[in-house]
Amino acid sequence: MEGSGTASLPVARVARIAAPEAVIRVVSRLRAAGHEAWVVGGAVRDFLLGDASAPVAAVRRAHGHGEEPAPNWDVATAATPGEVQALFARTVPIGVEHGTVAVHEEGLVIEVTTFRADVETFGRHARVRFSRSLAEDLERRDFTINALAWDPETGAVVDPFGGLEDLHARVLRAVGDPRARFAEDYLRILRAARFAARFDLEVLPDVRSAMAERAAGTAQLSGERVRDELLRTLEGAERPSAAFRLLRDTGALAHVLPELDACFGVEQNRWHADDVATHTLLVVDAVARKRRDIRVLALLHDLGKPAAKTWDEARGDWVFRGHDEIGAGLARGVLERLRFPRREIERLEHLVRVHMDLFPIEAGDAAVRRWIQRVGAEHVRALFALHFADWRGNRAKPWPARELRALYRRARRVMREAGALRIADLAVGGDDLIALGLQPGPRFREILEELLREVVETPALNDRDRLLVRARELAAAGAG
Ligand code: ATP
Ligand code: MG
Repeated sequence: MEGSGTASLPVARVARIAAPEAVIRVVSRLRAAGHEAWVVGGAVRDFLLGDASAPVAAVRRAHGHGEEPAPNWDVATAATPGEVQALFARTVPIGVEHGTVAVHEEGLVIEVTTFRADVETFGRHARVRFSRSLAEDLERRDFTINALAWDPETGAVVDPFGGLEDLHARVLRAVGDPRARFAEDYLRILRAARFAARFDLEVLPDVRSAMAERAAGTAQLSGERVRDELLRTLEGAERPSAAFRLLRDTGALAHVLPELDACFGVEQNRWHADDVATHTLLVVDAVARKRRDIRVLALLHDLGKPAAKTWDEARGDWVFRGHDEIGAGLARGVLERLRFPRREIERLEHLVRVHMDLFPIEAGDAAVRRWIQRVGAEHVRALFALHFADWRGNRAKPWPARELRALYRRARRVMREAGALRIADLAVGGDDLIALGLQPGPRFREILEELLREVVETPALNDRDRLLVRARELAAAGAG
């Protein structure tokens, strides 16, 4: 084996990539032990495209600041997983059956994967064998722009399928026959949509038609894989809408997210310029990319509209009464199917349910406090993030943004000033009521709730002595 092994493959170009020292060291150590090794995957692609921000974010994250999702640095090697583990002090086998070992170096996690070749594919998973050949390893990758390898010692880029040219021409081309490649792994259909949106790629006609032809296969994918791909689409692209539109147009959306698919063509009313799906996707795009959870919320927030749409004779217009409640149920269904964590499901379902509940600008402070209680103080920020995006994503612009900003300022001020919004915030507690001679039970709870209601109405009442007097009165009234 001649060092890096560039002799066997054409070198397309020599590139300087600011890979972290740790990545370069991992490659060097493997080579010093006699194993061919290359930097591969998304980080190489992103750098060659000039999207240098991603790897820089990785370095920043390694030093403990910055919130950008870090790209993973992938190394492909001829070394077997066992050989990799023997060479590095801190390793975690994260997918040994697929040959991946995570190497921890200077706070970075570098995924080192043994060259592989597919033996047999099943559409949702594959049986692979380890290989000694980079050429074989690149051949099993999905798109030309993802089939690049970089040698950090010489800067050589190995590019057997013309990925560099496609990258600069912004073209999405499959490695080999796209119909076959999608049938091997249907997730590649979703990946195609993600890369097209993220890099604003022209999807070649054969890729597009293969997506359509294989679309139904995406129904076989596990919820987890669809979820991860969906999240990467939402956080990876400035405008994820392009990905969803491509999935819609090729028929895949009907299989992975039928609830959203059903929103296409559902025209709205005088408050909107677009159908439900078009509006939804504009809202998703309007959410800042780093707020991935709000992008998920945006995607789900109007799913109830197709089922709720009814004609209102008096208004002479369509209305969507109850779409928040219906949507909350649909959102839960989607999130459960996609195996989201329980807490995230609860939170998003709740936010969809309350997303139409906003206090009017003329509401008094007490009414705003009651609204905060209904929505939950911890959800106010997320809800407004959705409202702002909803406003930006509504091309009819039925009301000015300053109204929304005023509401948000108001909500924040009231939250800051609100003394008590939960029973736990009251200046008296259960012990005080017991000291008054009350027995814990339903009546006990009613008294605390009544005290809270009064304090929410008049925050100055949240004073221990005053509340004790009031509790005594309520207890006496209840007993009498
Ligand atoms: P990102 O920048 O979002 O991490 P990525 O291209 O690095 O995108 P990964 O899932 O991290 O995507 O995979 C790393 C590389 O492994 C890809 O660039 C591609 O070469 C290959 N790969 C990953 N998943 C597949 C797949 N399902 N089919 C074929 N090749 C794949
Ligand atoms: Mg990656």
